[in-house]
Amino acid sequence: MDIQRWRSHPAVQRAIADLSNYQPILETVIAIQQVPAPTFAEQRRGQLVADRLRSLGLHDVVQDEMGNVYARRPGTTQQPGLLVSAHLDTVFPQETDLTIRRVGERIYGPGIGDNSTGVAALLHLAQLYTQHDLPNQRDIWFVANIAEEGLGDLRGMRTVIERLRPTISNVIVLEGCDFGTLHHHAIGVRRYRIEATAPGGHSWGNFGNPSAIHTLVRLATRITDISVPRNPRTTFNIGTIEGGTSVNTIAQHASMLLDMRSVSAPALIDLVSQVDRLIRMANSEHAHVRVSAVSVGDRPSGAIAREHPLVQAAVSAYQLVGATINFQQSSTDANIPLSLSIPAVCIGITDGGNAHRTDEFILPENLGRGLHALLLLSLAASS
Ligand SMILES: [Zn+2]
Repeated sequence: MDIQRWRSHPAVQRAIADLSNYQPILETVIAIQQVPAPTFAEQRRGQLVADRLRSLGLHDVVQDEMGNVYARRPGTTQQPGLLVSAHLDTVFPQETDLTIRRVGERIYGPGIGDNSTGVAALLHLAQLYTQHDLPNQRDIWFVANIAEEGLGDLRGMRTVIERLRPTISNVIVLEGCDFGTLHHHAIGVRRYRIEATAPGGHSWGNFGNPSAIHTLVRLATRITDISVPRNPRTTFNIGTIEGGTSVNTIAQHASMLLDMRSVSAPALIDLVSQVDRLIRMANSEHAHVRVSAVSVGDRPSGAIAREHPLVQAAVSAYQLVGATINFQQSSTDANIPLSLSIPAVCIGITDGGNAHRTDEFILPENLGRGLHALLLLSLAASS
């Protein structure tokens, strides 16, 4: 994966010259951001992306039954290709006010960085290939996928990889923000909704009856006493806890959401099995109490080494555009290919902040440089 030799290619130089003006990219970012796309309701945004990809003359433009959008630029060889992907969905509900505000250099709008900028980068990369007839030896699949955020649980990417698996050998995942950030180490995540039910009753009259809340908080305490390794970094968090009826009612129902993470698959399995054991224990303490766990998230871990040619190509591409490189361990769409030993990196396109908040913003000045790095990386990864 030689970045340098692509820089001097005349067609590539023309494409790079195009990137000195970031305005057209910014216009695409905003056009995408204006179409609501909550997880599992990405249809309209997906349609817009499919139309743009079709108008570029790409091959095999389709939307699968879930709503993932695919397009292919054929390579000159039969070797397995490159997948470049960006997730369509946002964390914002349908009714969110998507009005854009400009304050100084900042452009504010819910979802503008995460991931309208990633999707816009995908479209402009495809456009650079078609307009300048750039030389990719391998097929490049441009994919805008659904369900990356929250309880989407990477469902879109799972389907994309299942469909393309035999035909691809490298993956580049795009995130709108954090220009210079590189992820090649995917954290595994498991999430449980733990529920307790009990007979309950009146706080005075039925005192002594089992309580769902008492059962759940005992279990919660035992979970918080689990000691997890610092290295490999492993974490847990009880994020919400709810239940009960009133102050003088012994609770019949209570539930909590538990998030468990680790950079190491065995360490995560170990943590989950300790939690499972505590749940079984809580279940066996009283005949009329029931404690159960439902999996509400399962993001597999995986990694490639920093020395891997794909990571090194991403480092060189970023260095050539003057980015400060920041390696991150994270949970992104790249988890899926990495967990299946398909080399993948996730890279950031421009600068910004407040992701997942309504005052999310981007600083568009690095859009051109982010695209420039992505272009060089994609050429290297498809040659
Ligand atoms: Zn994102």
